[in-house]
Amino acid sequence: MNYIPTHILNIMGFDDSVLICDEVDPVLNKILNDNGLKVTYDPTITTEKILETVSNYNIIIVRSRTTITKEIIDKATNCKIIARVGVGLDNIDQEAAKAKNIRVINAVEGAMNAVAELVLGLMLSLARQTARADRGIRSGKWLKKEVMGTELRGKYLGIVGMGNIGKRLGRLAKALNMNIIGYDVIPIDEEFSKEVGLMKADLSTLLQSSDYVSIHVPLLDSTYHLIDAQKISTMKKTAKIINTSRGGVIDEDALYDALKSGNLGGAALDVFEKEPAIGHKLAELENVILTPHIGAQTKEAQSLAANVIGEKIIQILRGVI
Ligand code: NAD
Repeated sequence: MNYIPTHILNIMGFDDSVLICDEVDPVLNKILNDNGLKVTYDPTITTEKILETVSNYNIIIVRSRTTITKEIIDKATNCKIIARVGVGLDNIDQEAAKAKNIRVINAVEGAMNAVAELVLGLMLSLARQTARADRGIRSGKWLKKEVMGTELRGKYLGIVGMGNIGKRLGRLAKALNMNIIGYDVIPIDEEFSKEVGLMKADLSTLLQSSDYVSIHVPLLDSTYHLIDAQKISTMKKTAKIINTSRGGVIDEDALYDALKSGNLGGAALDVFEKEPAIGHKLAELENVILTPHIGAQTKEAQSLAANVIGEKIIQILRGVI
């Protein structure tokens, strides 16, 4: 998309009211205010309060904390746009929004590099057991002999979902001389495939052949528990799985059983079926790294996503997109 800078579009302001329900980068507030929109920033707002006040607003903005349900949409009688300052739209009832002619927008560009870099860090940490080694020193143990690592160079990385994040990860992993296997339900771009020497495969071949498997699909009915006990049982016993997409995509009980019984080498999860995942049973296991949904949690990603959403809202109001 070619963005027209706000200052060029800003011939006259708007008087729409905006409710921002989650914490977002201040640049979004600035773009909206500069264009005359009336912004209510309430990043700790409760669902009850949203239900009470939502009819006063023309635009609703969320990140991950707030879920925009059909009940909220039914009360949002003056709403034109629901925006998610992020990628996944699973916390917005898109069907209900569509039925009311409300535009739902997101910022796919924001998180691409941040999530791919996190995956790279998690793979390195799984390979060298840095989290375990750190826990050892903190509890008075010098685990030098126990922590025998492996290298990423030459290993097979299977990427499930070759969209924005999957592709960015492919490029980063290529720089570490990994072999990249890719699977998607839609054709994978040829130019990209040539660039990283991508081997295209079906999901079963990818799972059987990979030393690392990284998941980058949206959460849909068709991807719920895409990685289940049967599929995990086909993976190498030394393989490691990384999920930074959405919790429901992996069956966490099946993952736990495979890791505990030694049928899988390790796992790193940034997303969980129920969040916050405090007290999760996977935390009992040494070969697991757990992070609290921080994939897009970088200054750069948040600022980019807030800029993109601000510009998109102004362009929609001006009828440009
Ligand atoms: P994207 O839409 O660019 O790519 C997703 C890809 O998955 C598409 O190419 C699509 O064809 C493919 N796909 C859909 N169903 C599939 C299936 N059954 N099997 C294989 N491929 C399938 O999305 P993206 O920007 O790359 O984001 C990927 C995921 O990352 C999303 O779930 C998003 O919610 C998540 N995400 C997480 C964080 C985080 O903080 N951890 C941040 C941003 C995005």
